[in-house]
Amino acid sequence: MPMPSKPSEIAIIGAGYSGTLVAAHLLKESKVPLTVRLFDRDPKQFGRGIAYATPLDCQLLNVPAANMSAFPDDPGHFLRWAKEREAQLLNPPWVVEVGPKSFLPRRAYGDYLAWVLAEAERAAAPGVTLIRRAEKVAKLSPEPNGEIKLVLAGGQVFRVDRAVLALGNFPPGNLPIPDPNFYRSPRYHRNPWLPGVLERILETRSCLLVGSGLTMVDWAVSLGQYGYTGQVHVVSRRGFWPKAHQAADPVGFALDLETGDPSVRAWVRQIRAYVAKTGCDWRAVIDALRPHNQRLWQSLPLAEKRRFMRHARPFWDLHRHRLAPGVAARLEAIAESGQLVRHAGRVQGYRETETGVEVTIRPRGVERAETLEVEAVVNCSGSESNYRRLESALVRNLLDQGLIRPDPLSLGIEVAMDGGLVNAQGVISDRLFTLGPPSKGMLWETTAVPELRVQAQRLAGLLLAG
Ligand SMILES: Cc1cc2nc3c(=O)[nH]c(=O)nc-3n(C[C@H](O)[C@H](O)[C@H](O)COP(=O)(O)OP(=O)(O)OC[C@H]3O[C@@H](n4cnc5c(N)ncnc54)[C@H](O)[C@@H]3O)c2cc1C
Repeated sequence: MPMPSKPSEIAIIGAGYSGTLVAAHLLKESKVPLTVRLFDRDPKQFGRGIAYATPLDCQLLNVPAANMSAFPDDPGHFLRWAKEREAQLLNPPWVVEVGPKSFLPRRAYGDYLAWVLAEAERAAAPGVTLIRRAEKVAKLSPEPNGEIKLVLAGGQVFRVDRAVLALGNFPPGNLPIPDPNFYRSPRYHRNPWLPGVLERILETRSCLLVGSGLTMVDWAVSLGQYGYTGQVHVVSRRGFWPKAHQAADPVGFALDLETGDPSVRAWVRQIRAYVAKTGCDWRAVIDALRPHNQRLWQSLPLAEKRRFMRHARPFWDLHRHRLAPGVAARLEAIAESGQLVRHAGRVQGYRETETGVEVTIRPRGVERAETLEVEAVVNCSGSESNYRRLESALVRNLLDQGLIRPDPLSLGIEVAMDGGLVNAQGVISDRLFTLGPPSKGMLWETTAVPELRVQAQRLAGLLLAG
């Protein structure tokens, strides 16, 4: 199949963190003429993605500034950028100083990403250009001549040499309930990240947040920040929420992988024994595992991965994805004031009434269900990762053509180690690539900046090498 050894035109679909960083690396590193086409369906998220498009200063990064550089080989890059803008960033109580341990607003990080891209564009070699386009890519197909054809939602067609699917995080899916009609109600908000949803909830006297992870925390803290006085109910199966960051001395912990078959249960035993023996903070152990998580995940047999998903995932998530201390303190204060009520259990159904919504919850470990009345429900259960359930025209188009296939755990799609997409026949593409959240099933640890920046740099290098 004829194909240029080096691409002259590359499309990146999705201008969140991943797509923006791949574009920035291509612009910085290409020494020969190249056109980079960067697409995003949402103009407000262009160059920021879901995570960093928020305008709210109370939504903080959950990683300290020292570890948020966009460039793996320049760890101080973000911190220097932030220091130069310290006067604009200070905004008590959320930002009282800009230092390596500061948890800065995600809004500011979005500004940083926009700056990184603009700088890369400005310094690009002659003939190396970036073309931004705020429109949804609806279809993609490889052509017999080796090119890739993209069709936008409005019908316009582009042909490129390589394409990167940087599709990232999708809105949460609806949880299964016997009568899903409620999901059409204006009192139900499936996508908590849509503009205007917060304003709608601020008008209510009570709401239910479904899920108790990082999205719920964003919501609870943002409602408080905007003076919400209504009752906030939170429901999740176990009723836990993420732990807080706390300074912990690093430890040299490593799992013993030589003894016995790889098993999550055995690993948890090793972690517990180490913490008990050394008296160290468990956070230091979780952090010590971080560089090895992808390899550990890949060493697990599929049955063991399934077991992890069933039993250990919620515990892993709440220890691994921790809250900025200021956010954790605010959340505790809202809970202690009685404004926020936690429910551990399963939502069994919703019934819309004249004044609101009657929610039936079966508390954990109890046979009898309880009912709760609220005026609105927000789905904070996290990004939908099952590609068969996504309402994305592009994803459906790729599935229909067999160009992608979901991974066995439905955490994303199958991806080779270099980011090449694996098609329905198991063949790895040398023209279609991805990075970040879609590779969660293959890599597990692939959704936060410290991993994404490495993937973005590597993928750009691979694309430029032809
Ligand atoms: C709320 C939130 C907070 C987070 N906070 C942190 C943090 O503090 N620190 C950290 O390290 N990590 C954090 N993360 C994790 C991580 O940084 C994000 O997951 C990361 O932003 C992923 O970037 P992405 O570009 O892969 O995906 P996304 O940011 O989801 O971007 C994907 C983009 O693709 C676009 N798109 C999708 N389909 C199409 C299409 N067909 N055509 C055109 N465009 C399309 C979307 O509009 C979107 O803008 C957070 C994640 C979330 C969701």
